[in-house]
Amino acid sequence: VRSGRRACLKPSRKSMKKSNKIEFVSVVVPVYNEEGCLQELIDRTLAALDGCNRRFEFIMVDDGSRDNSAEIMKEASRKRPGEVISCILNRNYGQHSAIMAGFSQVRGDLVITLDADLQNPPEEIPNLIAAAEEGNDVVGTIRQNRKDTFFRRFASKIVNKVAQKATGVKMRDYGCMLRAYRRHIVDAMLQCNERSTFIPVLGNSFARNTCEIPVRHNERAVGDSKYSLWKLINLQFNLLTCMTTMPLRILTYFGLFAAFCGYLLSVYIVVRRFLWDDGDSWGQGGVFTLFAVMFIFTGIQMIGIGMIGEYIGRIYNDVRARPRYFIEEVFGRGEEK
Ligand code: UDP
Ligand code: MG
Repeated sequence: VRSGRRACLKPSRKSMKKSNKIEFVSVVVPVYNEEGCLQELIDRTLAALDGCNRRFEFIMVDDGSRDNSAEIMKEASRKRPGEVISCILNRNYGQHSAIMAGFSQVRGDLVITLDADLQNPPEEIPNLIAAAEEGNDVVGTIRQNRKDTFFRRFASKIVNKVAQKATGVKMRDYGCMLRAYRRHIVDAMLQCNERSTFIPVLGNSFARNTCEIPVRHNERAVGDSKYSLWKLINLQFNLLTCMTTMPLRILTYFGLFAAFCGYLLSVYIVVRRFLWDDGDSWGQGGVFTLFAVMFIFTGIQMIGIGMIGEYIGRIYNDVRARPRYFIEEVFGRGEEK
């Protein structure tokens, strides 16, 4: 993403209402097999939050990790009960569901999300709080000198474009999870029952004032991305279908266009047969052309059916209305020993 300007890209209302003051900050971090960098994350985040001179809670959601992550989290909760909260899910539900689980636990006025792999520096938290206090409901971020592969960058280009169209909110960088949401936005998101959500887009669809600030972006501290190519493709599908039914409409236009062409072609064949009457040699010679045309249209039909199936699958999931996550244990509220 291109380099951004220093100030907020979209100026918000000047009038500072008294409710803009943020007294209590919640930080939500999804954690999935991150034992290598978790301790550093905890130390740096707590240092950043201590420097903010506000009440805070640091909620880590263990998304069914198979390594030692949950233990490290609980140890941190034991050291600072009431401030560091470990929320343990019973299995892996995916990044966005894990964040939702964290959202269900927040108590603060402002909720900040970030990744556990230290790609988003926790030191940016004060800047996010400052931008929110200017009266913004959602504070997005633009990654400076982004450290990701070409494929990831290309994918997020498309995502940003579609998201801008679907939500009507112009943000340059939807992919960065380092974000701040005011509490009422989080409450609105929690009321959404659809299963496949993409939190930055969902949040923006409820926001009145938004802004974006530039943040640093680092390489993953340890380990590999938890997204395989397959999981990424899935995410893109989720994104597209959760935001818009446009693909279905494109399909209709495509079908109309194809049908119209077929109609023209048939008229042409009939006219040619009667006017020139050059036998059916032309028709036989065109057998393979016919095949080609047929394959193209069969392909389009298959794509169409697949696309409809995609939406029906989603409707099915939403009708079943299973919970998006199960919280097994919340540790560190200060009530347990
Ligand atoms: N994550 C998660 N559940 C998953 C996959 C990822 O909670 O199934 C968390 C992960 O621990 C990290 C964040 O989501 O905090 C982003 O993951 P990752 O860094 O692997 O994604 P990328 O930076 O490649 O988009
Ligand atoms: Mg990452």
